[in-house]
Amino acid sequence: MSTTHRVAEPTPGLRGYVGAWATWLWRRERHTRRVLDVRMPLCETLEMMPVAVVTIDQRARIIFANAKAIELFGYSREELTAASADMLFPLHAVCDSHLTGANNNVENRIAEVATTQVLVARRRDGVDFPTEVNTSRHRSLNQVIQIVVILDRTACAEVSRSGEELEHLARVSSLGELAGSLAHELKQPLTAILFNAQAAQKFMASKTANPAELRDALEDIVTDNCRASEVIHRIRTLARKGEIDLRPLSVNEVIGDIERLVHSDAITRGIQIRFDLAGNLAPVYGDKVQIQQVVLNLLLNAFDAVKERAPEERLVETIARDEPGGGVRITVRDHGPGLTADQMHKIFRAFYTTKPLGLGLGLSISRTIITGHGGRLWAENNEGMGASFHVTLPAGPGAQQADIHRPR
Ligand code: ADP
Repeated sequence: MSTTHRVAEPTPGLRGYVGAWATWLWRRERHTRRVLDVRMPLCETLEMMPVAVVTIDQRARIIFANAKAIELFGYSREELTAASADMLFPLHAVCDSHLTGANNNVENRIAEVATTQVLVARRRDGVDFPTEVNTSRHRSLNQVIQIVVILDRTACAEVSRSGEELEHLARVSSLGELAGSLAHELKQPLTAILFNAQAAQKFMASKTANPAELRDALEDIVTDNCRASEVIHRIRTLARKGEIDLRPLSVNEVIGDIERLVHSDAITRGIQIRFDLAGNLAPVYGDKVQIQQVVLNLLLNAFDAVKERAPEERLVETIARDEPGGGVRITVRDHGPGLTADQMHKIFRAFYTTKPLGLGLGLSISRTIITGHGGRLWAENNEGMGASFHVTLPAGPGAQQADIHRPR
């Protein structure tokens, strides 16, 4: 067993106390002078800035906060001065992933990346809000300081959230258009399940029950149940709000899902649908639900366009081909009235609609989605009759760089 011997520290006498106190006073005075040295040349300019600005020292202590910063964060000037910058940018609230490295303290976080960063800031009342933080280093007298300009991005985040809401609304509204035919599609397997279940009950009740017939009835019940579940799954996938899920996609699979979704609607409306999809198309990189939303919207618009045509002319074709320069092109071609020159200009604008119950959002949101995937969406009139809407998507993860926007 080892014993630790502590060396008794000499008890400071009165002179020692006074000395320590004087040293402390001198240090504090020197620190204050230094701080003032740094503040004086800058503070008047920064105070007049129309945006929030704080300066911090190398230990991430706030040296100075201007009036806009005080207003933005809700602290008094006294509370901010000498406080840690962590108080404004809490450690675990960094929303820009490239900043969440091993070096996680605020000073490094701000100092390492001299460009603009998006950080979550926290007000005095505990409310977090998004900010754009621009940092630059300055040498002021004998000290290196950082000038941190903070822009409140709450409004931008709200605009982006509204965009997401609209996108979701447009998707759900497309599904709403299909509601009648989807209900019909669900009714078929449910009715078949009921018949087969009743038949099975009868077999069980009869004394001469044939096990093979009973097994067949039960197998049919399972198959119809799967059919009904598939319909529900397809609806739920498109209706739910979720995170963007970027992955390599087979365009044919994406279109195949939509084909199954609109199949009954086309039959109900007496529309012939043709799918001409090239085999071995290059995979595209993107969010499946978003691309499906675009194809669904183009198809439903095409269905509306041909509805006044004679039954034999109600034809909508979907064609998928490799694009000569790389990537894939999807074309939805109808035999409707086509587009006037005026419509050509307006159809991709938000809220432009010629339909009594239209939202006028489908095409503008579709274009945003496709542009975000690094592709293009445009319309042209066919040589004979009707219009064609073309979507191009770049192949492979090259599209990863594109600005595929925010959570769904
Ligand atoms: P909505 O379908 O709610 O009207 P969209 O943005 O999808 O919204 O379409 C905007 C408008 O573009 C439609 O109201 C219609 O006038 C026109 N349009 C879209 N697709 C076609 C098409 N295939 N043929 C003719 N006009 C079309």
